[in-house]
Amino acid sequence: MTTNRSVVRRPTRRVMVGHVAVGGGAPVVVQSMTNTDTADVTSTVLQVYDLWQAGSELVRLTVNTEEAARGVVVVREKLDAMGCDVPLIGDFHFNGHRLIKAVPECAQALAKLRINPGNVGRGAKKDEQFATLVEAAARYDKAVRIGVNWGSLDQELLARMMDENAQRILPHEPAQVMRNALIASALESAARAVELGLAADRIILSCKLSGVQDLVAVYRDLACRSDYALHLGLTEAGMGSKGIVASAAALAILLQEGIGDTIRVSLTPAPGESRTTEVQVAQEILQTVGLRSFTPLVTACPGCGRTTSTVFQELAQNIQAWLRGQMPVWRGQYPGVATMSVAVMGCVVNGPGESKHANVGISLPGSNETPVAPVYVDGEKTVTLKGDRIAEEFQAIVADYVKRTYGGASGER
Ligand code: SF4
Repeated sequence: MTTNRSVVRRPTRRVMVGHVAVGGGAPVVVQSMTNTDTADVTSTVLQVYDLWQAGSELVRLTVNTEEAARGVVVVREKLDAMGCDVPLIGDFHFNGHRLIKAVPECAQALAKLRINPGNVGRGAKKDEQFATLVEAAARYDKAVRIGVNWGSLDQELLARMMDENAQRILPHEPAQVMRNALIASALESAARAVELGLAADRIILSCKLSGVQDLVAVYRDLACRSDYALHLGLTEAGMGSKGIVASAAALAILLQEGIGDTIRVSLTPAPGESRTTEVQVAQEILQTVGLRSFTPLVTACPGCGRTTSTVFQELAQNIQAWLRGQMPVWRGQYPGVATMSVAVMGCVVNGPGESKHANVGISLPGSNETPVAPVYVDGEKTVTLKGDRIAEEFQAIVADYVKRTYGGASGER
């Protein structure tokens, strides 16, 4: 797959989050968040490492207690010792100002602080507590995400904007006022952060909602009204296919419009499910819209009455899992391999045609067809497989193609 040239990225300021560039034309960055207790250093280190290995380029941690704040420092040290340099982001709510004062090493260990303007304090204390966090970020030269969430929208700001709306000759719908309040909260907080001494190129904004149409409307507006780098995500996306579909629908629309510099997919894992699913989904969203390539993707037909065996389903599943499993090594060894496409098709109807479009494709025999499987490499039929070892032989052909095609490359294709 090649870069989708129809996507023209909206120009934003570039923000360095540790060694990772966000915005300013840099590739859209994948990030994720742990769900361990950050004070439990061992569990947190293991999960951050897993997320990083899965491809998360930034990882956010909850910082909700002094133990968690101290834990961040040790987590950073242990990750460094393991050769894992993924930048860490601290997620602060309610008591962040106290934690940063009590454990300043926490801010130093982080690459970015996430501040939610709706959860930073009330009344007169709000400005002071917001300033404490922003000044700490400025002091240690850290990035800040001003992360507004409709579930914790600044109620004082919302009340003020509702009052102003009520005075209008033609008042907006309450939902519109709420969306405007989200954007105002982000932009006013960013302006305040700049007044406090934080450089504009240290600020990333987000305004997360859980409804697809609301999210799209808010980000379109936000993108028109500022040039801050934007963190994109549908909040509380949910579980399983619902969360994946909702996130993909929302993010794809905005990414296609060039909006979004870093994304997170907020999936609720099923009990026992790996946290890394959200990383895989984020990567697949970016890859399927043509913005980045992370791993070779398998094109497979859905199957129908023409292929009643499970052979092609198993081959498609196994080859995708095998390709994904190779990537930690292949990424460095075979530059450009992530753009490779592989097709696994169930019968002769679309099998040869689709296989020819892929770099490597196989058209398995459907019901009542001769039990042979032609293989296509770069559009040409090269061999016909038969017998009990079709899966293994096809995998060997793909491995050989990777070595021959990407082994001598010196840069990303
Ligand atoms: S390629 Fe064949 S098996 Fe697959 S969906 Fe099409 S007709 Fe059915």
